[in-house]
Amino acid sequence: MRTDADCIFCKIIAGDIPSAKVYEDDDVYAFLDISQVTKGHTLVIPKEHTKNIYETDEAIAAALFARVPKIANALNQAFQPAGINIVNNNEEFAGQTVFHLHLHLIPRYDKTDGYQAQWITHENQHDLAAIASEISTNL
Ligand code: 5GP
Ligand code: ZN
Repeated sequence: MRTDADCIFCKIIAGDIPSAKVYEDDDVYAFLDISQVTKGHTLVIPKEHTKNIYETDEAIAAALFARVPKIANALNQAFQPAGINIVNNNEEFAGQTVFHLHLHLIPRYDKTDGYQAQWITHENQHDLAAIASEISTNL
């Protein structure tokens, strides 16, 4: 399994850096984010080192997300949040600070709970068919 000796999350998986473990199996590790944006803020990571979504093969992506419903339901049972956001930052501009793929599971409690994401919609300003075509020709 690929690991990166300089990667903080690889060190957490190896047990070289302590973490508050929530879940572990052969392929996936989940632990509490040290920042606890909200109570129960959990990171779910593949054990195989992969920098971010661009470098992730389908098998790793499938294994990673396959564990999310179980962990999300456990958070839901534990804390009865009003909802949960699942966030994945890729590249520095998008907020990625640790370059080992991870999903943030952020339980939501109320409008001032610590998490905010602003979506500004720009309806009717885009040719959706053209945009979709530009993407799909690169699949
Ligand atoms: P990113 O900004 O890359 O999407 O998220 C990285 C997350 O890793 C941050 O929310 C940060 O709090 C968390 N983090 C960084 N270092 C550690 C650590 O040593 N232990 C834990 N548990 N979380 C960490
Ligand atoms: Zn790593």
